[in-house]
Amino acid sequence: MPRLDLPALLDLVIPLDCAACHRPGTRWCVRCDRALRRLATGAVVDVRADRSSRPALPVRSWGSYASPLDSVVTAWKDEGRSDLSTLLGPLLAQSVHAAIVNVGCSPPKASPCLLVPVPSSRGSVRRRGGAPLDGLVSAVLHELPPATAAALRLVPALRHVRNVVDQSRLGTERRRENLSGAMEVGARWRAVVEARRCVVVDDVVTTGATLAEAARALRSAGADAVEAAVIAATPRRYRP
Ligand SMILES: [Zn+2]
Repeated sequence: MPRLDLPALLDLVIPLDCAACHRPGTRWCVRCDRALRRLATGAVVDVRADRSSRPALPVRSWGSYASPLDSVVTAWKDEGRSDLSTLLGPLLAQSVHAAIVNVGCSPPKASPCLLVPVPSSRGSVRRRGGAPLDGLVSAVLHELPPATAAALRLVPALRHVRNVVDQSRLGTERRRENLSGAMEVGARWRAVVEARRCVVVDDVVTTGATLAEAARALRSAGADAVEAAVIAATPRRYRP
């Protein structure tokens, strides 16, 4: 009886091609990996809730949201390529690490810093069959040095208080309107968030409206200090 070749069987179920250039025979090719590494900037992007609001929200970004990283994020988020968490997790972990150091959560600290993913809208959870970001943030904790991970607590504290439309086709002003006052800290998390340092986590920052709203909701629940960490920032809006 022939031996079962599990990887070959998996390739029949999950097509084996590069997430960015679709070169066959690999899920992530060497050429795209080289191009990806050139996008690293380690930039800090300031986001404000509106033109006049202060304080700014510092956002740590691993790199620029350009090719081939944009294809990887799309494949991971919208095409069911959850295996790409192993590629994206280490990038996001670098941003998270920079943010927690800056927000003053370096170990050892008596109380852990809170890692708060931005919530997905109900529509996108339905469309994607879940919230890919939650899985990615869990992967980030495994990428960090043990002492750093021990100083963090993953807290899904934020939720939408009303329906929001898909942000992807909206301009800057419409995004702000769409999200203004749209999030809150859930009742069971309010005591956890109060007086704590928080790092909000998202995949990509474009206009900053989502992160600004998340930070506003955390601050209004009494969070002490808030920073944000993302994989990438759109280069059109934010220069490194
Ligand atoms: Zn490729």
